[in-house]
Parts: sequence; structure tokens; C-alpha cells
Amino acid sequence: MEQSRTLSGRSRFTAIFGDPVEHSLSPAMHNAAYAGLAMDRAYLAFHVTPDRLRDAIRAIPALGLLGVNLTVPHKQRAARMMARLSDEARILGAINCVVNREGVLSGDNTDARGLEADLREAGLELEAKLAVIIGAGGAAAAAVLAALRLGAGRIAIGNRTRARAQALARRFARHITARGKDRARATITTCGLDTLTRPDLLAQAALVVNATSIGLQGGGFIPLDYAATSDDCLFYDLIYAREPTPFLQSAAARGRRALDGAGMLAEQGELAFELFNGTPPPPGAMRTALLAALGRA
Ligand code: NDP
Repeated sequence: MEQSRTLSGRSRFTAIFGDPVEHSLSPAMHNAAYAGLAMDRAYLAFHVTPDRLRDAIRAIPALGLLGVNLTVPHKQRAARMMARLSDEARILGAINCVVNREGVLSGDNTDARGLEADLREAGLELEAKLAVIIGAGGAAAAAVLAALRLGAGRIAIGNRTRARAQALARRFARHITARGKDRARATITTCGLDTLTRPDLLAQAALVVNATSIGLQGGGFIPLDYAATSDDCLFYDLIYAREPTPFLQSAAARGRRALDGAGMLAEQGELAFELFNGTPPPPGAMRTALLAALGRA
């Protein structure tokens, strides 16, 4: 349970900008960490519409905010407003963190590292195996990078709009060529969603990630051939919710391991907290606060 805290004239602030932002669970996670460390800091949520994003970014040094998380729909545009970008932000073409270092704004992206950490914690080893990533937006880019870093031998990107999957594959092909460190052995292929309803591709997969927004508003998922996957195939939905998503429900019904994106959210939040505050959060504090906010504690 979070202790009540009194803010003072010396209190420092971090925040999230989004549109919408009311649903965000980041304030619960970050404020739990501040409470655990008894820091005179607080994390706020600001509803920032796209037409006010530039003003809001300029306000970060003006107000002395230590750091800001960005959520939909700002991640790509905000990247173009930074003085500096981390290598990871450049690869992903998007940022989820702005760090204010004495008035100079640096953009970083902790989504891929967050997903990688959560998959490692789940004991996943992708060494030379196939990862299927469904989706081709910003979250899918983070999933591709995480799969590369986990040593995938092959990555298949399946998306409704095939051209978008192909553009993502080209971006990573350039990255793999330019930087050997992210496992130059991996090959990246693309397909439409219909390919995922047939057994051939899924039968080879060690990991299937939903990086689309299907399921966010309820409704069913595309009819994947879950039964074709191997018994130890891990299904991971980047969406997190109180109840298992349709994608995860179907996987679990066939006895497959099924994890949602709450772990990734907690891990990316822990990385952001350390970037903003120069100190890590108390172990487990952010994850516990997140699960409580989701009613899953
Ligand atoms: P984008 O809007 O960039 O991409 C959305 C993707 O979903 C596209 O590939 C799009 O396909 C696909 N899609 C949407 N609706 C449909 C549909 N009806 N049928 C088929 N495909 C569809 O979103 P993001 O990449 O930013 O986010 C995707 C998801 O990941 C969100 O639900 C978000 O909440 C989650 N997320 C979770 C995080 C975490 O920490 N756990 C972090 C970041 C994101 P097309 O290209 O054809 O339009």
C-alpha cells in the first residue's frame, strides 16, 4: 500500500504525455517506486493532444521535469523533436522516454528492452528458432528487436497491410547489416494474416507475439491455427488487461503458455524510472503496483 506523501516547493516531477492518458497505469507504478524510496518526487499524467505536443515537449525543460514517458499517439513524432536520440530510438523510429539533462532533451525507447527482459524472465530461449510477430506498428518494431536480441534465427512479420510489414522488415534488414551485434544470422520474412491461419508457418514457431491492437476493444482474434504449434510455443500479447485477451484465451485453451504485456509494461517502466531518476526502483515495487491496478494482485 502506497504511503501518503506531502509535496513541497522542493519536489521534482516526472510525467506521461498521451491522448488519451486517463487509462495509463504508469502513474501508479512510478509513484509506488517513489513512495518505496521515500523520494520527494511525483509522476503526473498530462492529456496532450497532437496539436499541443510541441508546446508540451518545450515545457519539459521550462518546468524542470526530470523525464517524461510518451504514449499513443506521440511516440514517432516526438522522436523528431529531440536534441539527441539513443541508438535504440533510432532503430525503432520512436521514443517512449524523454530524459531532461540540464535542459537538453534525449529520446530513448525502453519497449524492446522491456519485452526482452520479460521474455527472458519467462525462460524463453529463441536460439536460432522462429519468432512470429503479428503487427507492423511501433510495438511490432520493439518485438522484432527483442526477438533479434533473444537470438531468433528467423522472424516472420505478419500484418493486415503487407506493405507495412515489408517496410518494417527492410528497416531491420538495414540495421542487421549495419550492426552485427543484433544477431546478423537472423532472416526476416513477411506475410499477410491469412498465412497465420494455416499450419505450416506456425508449426515451426517458438514464440508468437500479438503486437496489433486487436482485442483492445474486445471482440475475437484472427483464427490462428493454434493447434499446429509445438507444445512449448509461447504466446505473448503486448496488450494487458484485467482478463486474458482472446488471443491468449485461445492459446491457453490448447495448453500453450500464454503471457500478456503487463510484464513488459512493468519492465519498460523500471528502465524509464532509472533513466529519469538516476536510481533503480525498489525491486518488484512497480510490478506489484501494476498488478494491483489491474486487479490481479
Ligand atoms: P499501431 O497503431 O502502430 O499498430 C497497430 C497494429 O495493429 C498494426 O499492425 C495494424 O495493422 C494492426 N491492426 C489494428 N487493427 C486491426 C484489425 N482490426 N485487424 C488486423 N490488424 C489490425 O499500434 P502500436 O504498435 O503502437 O501498438 C500495438 C499494441 O501494442 C497496442 O494494443 C498497445 O496497447 C500495445 N503496446 C503494449 C506495450 C506494453 O508495454 N505492453 C507497449 C506498447 C504497445 P495495419 O498496419 O494493417 O493497420
